[in-house]
Amino acid sequence: MTVEDECAVCGEELGHIRADDIPPYFTIMIVGHIVVPAVMWSEQAWSPSLWTHVAIWPALTLALTLAFLPFIKGGVLGVLWALKMFEDEKRYPVAK
Ligand SMILES: [Zn+2]
Repeated sequence: MTVEDECAVCGEELGHIRADDIPPYFTIMIVGHIVVPAVMWSEQAWSPSLWTHVAIWPALTLALTLAFLPFIKGGVLGVLWALKMFEDEKRYPVAK
């Protein structure tokens, strides 16, 4: 998921802002707090077979991760932009 170089609405430069590992960190934390209790609850409530667990939880984890990550990354980039964390990189771009 690549960040657009500039905002489609206002033209603000965004491509120089690097969120690095923060979006995956928050995504893992949020998805983990949904999936792990769901696994424990389902085991307590129905005791499904191992193959049922294997069929449900990895797919749900992947789906939630792919669904949440772009929005969490957008939120992190918004906070970094609002805090002016990358103003120096805008003035003195790092060679790619
Ligand atoms: Zn904008």
